[in-house]
Amino acid sequence: TNDYKELARLDFAHQLHPQYHVSDHQDPVIYERGDGALLYDVNGREYIDGLSGLWNVAVGHGRVELAEAAAEQMRELAFSNSYVGYANVPSIRLAEKLMSLVYSNMQAVLFCNSGSEAVDVAIKIARYFWYLQDKPEKNKIVARKEAYHGGTLGATAATGLPPFHVGFGPLAPAFVRAETCYPYRCGHCAGANDCTLACADDIEKVIVAEGPETVAALIAEPVHGAGGVIVPTPGYWPRLREICDRHDVLLIADEVITGFGRTGRWFGCNHTGVVPDVMTVGKGMGSGFPISGLISTDEIVAATPFARASASSSSYGGNPLAAAAALATLETIVDEGLVEHAARVGARMLDRLRAMQERYSFLGDVRGAGLLIGLDLVRDRATKEPLEREVTERIFTEALRRGLLLMGYFPRVRINPPLTITAEQADTGLAILDEVFATVAGEAHAR
Ligand code: PLP
Repeated sequence: TNDYKELARLDFAHQLHPQYHVSDHQDPVIYERGDGALLYDVNGREYIDGLSGLWNVAVGHGRVELAEAAAEQMRELAFSNSYVGYANVPSIRLAEKLMSLVYSNMQAVLFCNSGSEAVDVAIKIARYFWYLQDKPEKNKIVARKEAYHGGTLGATAATGLPPFHVGFGPLAPAFVRAETCYPYRCGHCAGANDCTLACADDIEKVIVAEGPETVAALIAEPVHGAGGVIVPTPGYWPRLREICDRHDVLLIADEVITGFGRTGRWFGCNHTGVVPDVMTVGKGMGSGFPISGLISTDEIVAATPFARASASSSSYGGNPLAAAAALATLETIVDEGLVEHAARVGARMLDRLRAMQERYSFLGDVRGAGLLIGLDLVRDRATKEPLEREVTERIFTEALRRGLLLMGYFPRVRINPPLTITAEQADTGLAILDEVFATVAGEAHAR
C-alpha cells in the first residue's frame, strides 16, 4: 500500500517539479488511480478532474481499451525506430487515421513525443521550407502575446507569457512578438461585437516592419489554452490566413490543446474555415500516452523531401507503443461520439457559468469552445482590474479541498475536463465551483 506521508517525504527530497519550487508544495496531492473524469489520491479522496490531467486525458482515466492496446503492443514489439528505412505497423496505421481526420490537403505527419518538441520541429520545418527555396534569411517566427507553445528552447521563445521567460535568457533569437485577439481585454475595440481585427493587423504590421523576406512563419493557437482559454472573434483566423498569404509567411496552427475534439470539433481550425500550412498536435491524441506530431500539407511535404529525415531525430518519435495507444484513443473518440459530446456538455457548462456571472461580480468573463472553458476574474467589472491574487488562489485551494481540480494563469481560470465527462459530473463540478465562489465572495465581502 502507498503511504502518503512517506511518498510526500520522498517527493520533497528527490523529485523536481517544473512549475513551482518544491518548498512551496510540501503537501502535494498524490494521485493513485482514475476512472473516467474522476481521480483518487493515495488517501482515497475523490476529485473531479477539471484538467483532464493536463488537457490530455481525452477519453478519461482507467480506459481498458487503451491498456489492452498498449499491453498487446508491448508483448508484440516493444520498440522500433522510425528513422529512414524503418517503420512499424501501429505508426503507419495511426498516420493513416490522422490523415482521415484532418484537412484533405494535409498529407503527412512526423511523430514526436511532446507538444514542445512538435512546436520546435514545426519551426525547423518552416525554416527548412524557405531554405530549400534559396531564402535562408526568411527565418523569423512571429508569435503572439498570451501564447503558450511549450518548454523547449524554441517553444519557450515562441511562448508569450512572461513568467515562462524569467531567468532563462537569452531566449532563442529570431522570434518576434505580436498582439493577439483578446476580445475581453482588447486595447483596440470596445468588445467582441465591435471587433475591427486591428489585433490581426498588428501582426501584419510586425511582419512588414521586420520585412516579409525575413519572416518564415506565424505560429498561433486556434484558442489560447494555457494563457487562459482566450477565444478569438470569428473573423480573426481568416484574416491571419490572408495576411500570411499576402506576405508568403507559413501559418502554423498549434493544435496541441485544441486538437481531437477538445473544442467540440475535431480541430480548433475547424471553427474558422482556415487551413493552416502546418499543424502541431499532441496531448489528447494519446490520452495520457506521450505522443505528438507535426502534420504538413502536401505542398510542404513536396517542397521538403528530406525534412522527415533531417528535421528531428528523436528516438521515441513514432514508437509503436504510443502509436498503438493513440490509435485506440482516436478509435474511442470516434466510436463514442466524443467530439459531439464535448460540444454538448461544454455548451451546457458555459450556460451555467454565464448564469453564475449574475451572482458573482468577480466573474468578469466566461468563454470557451466545447470543453475548453476559461474565466477572467476581476475586482471590478467596469475597470476589469484583475481579482487580487490571494483571492484567486483561495478559489483554487477551496476547489481542491472540495474535490475539484482546476488550474489557472492568474487571473484566469481554465476548466477542461475529459471529453467523456457526463452531464451529471459536469453539474456536480459546477455546483462545487458555485460553493467555492459563494465562500470566497463572502470572505471578500467580510474584508
Ligand atoms: N503547445 C500548446 C498549445 C500547449 O498548450 C502546450 C502545453 O500545454 C504545448 C505546445 C507543449 O506541449 P508539451 O507540454 O506536451 O510539451
